[in-house]
Amino acid sequence: MNKVITENQRTTPVAEEVDVLVCGGGPAGIGAALAAARGGAKTCLLESQGCLGGVWTAGLLAWLIDYGNKDGIMREIVDQLDALGARACPEGKPSNGFDVEIMKALLEDLCMDAGVILRLNHYLVDAVVADGKITHAICESKSGREAISAKAFIDCTGDGDLAARAGCGFELGKADTGETQPMSMLALVAGIDPDAVRAFHYGLPGDARGNLKAEMERAGLSPSYAMPTLSYVRDDLFFLMANHEYGASAIDGKSLSDATVRGRREVHQLVNALRNLGDPWSRLHIVATGAHIGVREGRRIHGRYQVTAEDLVQGARHPDAVCRATFEVDVHATDKKHGSGVEPTTIRTQPYDIPLRALIAKDLDGLMMAGRCISGDFLAHSSYRVTGNAVAMGEGAGRAAAEAIRRKRYPHELCDPETGESI
Ligand SMILES: Cc1cc2nc3c(=O)[nH]c(=O)nc-3n(C[C@H](O)[C@H](O)[C@H](O)COP(=O)(O)OP(=O)(O)OC[C@H]3O[C@@H](n4cnc5c(N)ncnc54)[C@H](O)[C@@H]3O)c2cc1C
Repeated sequence: MNKVITENQRTTPVAEEVDVLVCGGGPAGIGAALAAARGGAKTCLLESQGCLGGVWTAGLLAWLIDYGNKDGIMREIVDQLDALGARACPEGKPSNGFDVEIMKALLEDLCMDAGVILRLNHYLVDAVVADGKITHAICESKSGREAISAKAFIDCTGDGDLAARAGCGFELGKADTGETQPMSMLALVAGIDPDAVRAFHYGLPGDARGNLKAEMERAGLSPSYAMPTLSYVRDDLFFLMANHEYGASAIDGKSLSDATVRGRREVHQLVNALRNLGDPWSRLHIVATGAHIGVREGRRIHGRYQVTAEDLVQGARHPDAVCRATFEVDVHATDKKHGSGVEPTTIRTQPYDIPLRALIAKDLDGLMMAGRCISGDFLAHSSYRVTGNAVAMGEGAGRAAAEAIRRKRYPHELCDPETGESI
């Protein structure tokens, strides 16, 4: 048995009293905080990193998926990125890639303009529960330990940290084995001429990513991700996804730390090996690796509806839809024995709705989720997790939280629990 200690009981200052507290400032948290604040709720956004954007920024995932059919805040972000020149337009077609630093600044501006109370570098560590609902979230920062009270809470931590700390039930990984999709350390790289590496990259007309693995093997290394991708961002800037960290747990601090170190080391080895090949790689260099390793999946919190693979097959429709997802099932191999690329699937995804009920915690009142940690099964999650959907889910949650507060109700009282019809 692991040794344990009992900490001293402590008194914790209440640092903020707000209507809506959003925990996690990734794509989902941005959508949630902006929608809640614009809906008239006094809103605070808590983020453990020193920037907003989650995997988009701290993770350096400079690539949008399932955003084209989204209006609202996702559309607004894309339009603003375009106005700021943050998306390249190779051969007349806007790229899915974007400039990460411009995204960081844009998200802060949007939140400040909406009146969101921002708390960067604040880590959510606990929750106080009374009478079946959360009363306070507990965070830690350079100020020490502080409490924040709210009428409604939205867990956008990706890993469901708030809901789990509050005691909600959840699922993690595949139903039979508990295996989760691998993490990936991502990197921004530069120093290459897009035309000269056209035979290897992705994001310009003609997907040639299949050749990158062979090129890495020619350099003497076999990447842990068998489908390494060099995606075009702008100018001579690309993002590189070539690393898979198998068996690492998103909810185990030491495991995350170990995966980060291993992943970063592999990225450096791969880039050095390519550069040693000479042209067209002779000036290839890493601009940055992720401050946070990219986590594909963590807890899926039990909600009042569970999005399932069957919903994808049927193209489910719901009156309380907050998002229409179109992305396919995309399971990166959960173990090397399943291959090191993407696991094959027979599921043909039809555009499907994610209902508000899947964003409302089942075990506590006044708690919602958005993004990766909503209520869904393993396969459905592999589809809806991408960032265009995360923003839309966040927006739906934030809007519902503000409306519930205005009407002096809980979010689950806004729609019929069975049908999703508005009440
Ligand atoms: C390697 C990789 C490649 C991917 N490729 C694509 C792609 O090409 N396109 C695409 O659209 N999607 C892609 N995805 C999926 C997508 O990035 C995520 O699923 C999406 O970011 C989910 O958004 P989110 O806001 O739920 O979670 P996240 O982006 O993970 O954001 C969670 C936020 O919460 C914060 N947080 C976590 N815990 C705490 C805590 N305890 N206290 C305070 N803050 C906390 C984090 O710092 C982070 O900012 C990829 C994901 C990975 C990992």
